Amino acid sequence: MSDVPKTHPRYLSLTLRDTIVAGVEQGITSIHGLIAHGRGEAFDYLIGEATQPFATEAIRAAAAMLRLAEHPIISVNGNVAALAPEALIELGQVLNAPLEVNIFHTETGREQRIREHLLKHKARLLTSPAKEGVENSPDVLMPTTEAQLSYIDSNRKFVHPDGIFKADVVFVPLEDGDRCEALRKMGKSVVTVDLNPMSRTAKQASITIVDNVVRALPLLCEEIRNFSDPAEQDTLKTYSNEAVLQKALRYISGSGNGD
Ligand code: ATP
Ligand code: MG
Repeated sequence: MSDVPKTHPRYLSLTLRDTIVAGVEQGITSIHGLIAHGRGEAFDYLIGEATQPFATEAIRAAAAMLRLAEHPIISVNGNVAALAPEALIELGQVLNAPLEVNIFHTETGREQRIREHLLKHKARLLTSPAKEGVENSPDVLMPTTEAQLSYIDSNRKFVHPDGIFKADVVFVPLEDGDRCEALRKMGKSVVTVDLNPMSRTAKQASITIVDNVVRALPLLCEEIRNFSDPAEQDTLKTYSNEAVLQKALRYISGSGNGD
């Protein structure tokens, strides 16, 4: 880790840079993931490196959609695994849903290393006194050749029959546009976290949380934990992903307050 002083105004951003570099060094994150991270950083700068009202609105809707899902699944790539392993495990626990490794660049053994990295954090979380009382521990599913997604040619088409293949709602942060489109064409709902409100993923997802995944995931877990009102279903009926993305764009261009 580099020596970033805590007083540095952009301490968190610089720490995340170290985390993603460590992910590459551990063989969890693809080297290409650094480019995706850099693009994310640029958009994070533009939204003030803070969770804005358009993200809070999307997080509330996402919590309702995931809680009301019959078979939710959490799709994990090398960037998210490096940046927020604990929050991913916690999301699996609060949702009682499995995690599934799904990556684009399949360097030898990387899928397995991601799985082991997640399991290590799961073990740590389960023994942590602060998390006592949380019994559900999510499985970490792996891609198989038994089930394949339609409309997609890359390695990401190989999925687990009881995971992404069967899911009605797929939570997939930092998604690639191609796969988001394929999942939607297969009739699945997609919840994503993407700092770029103009990406194909952001536009095609059912719900896009325009925020950094490290800030959004703990907030999403909290929102799911507090979810009690089935009337939230009505929020979903009137929710417009396009309108929320417009709020993000207006905020970025300085013509809106994010609400
Ligand atoms: P698309 O395929 O959807 O058009 P893309 O090809 O521009 O998008 P990808 O490399 O496929 O981008 O996916 C990376 C996306 O993840 C980018 O939109 C980037 O802004 C976003 N991103 C990167 N890091 C983070 C992060 N920490 N939190 C949230 N989003 C992030
Ligand atoms: Mg892409």
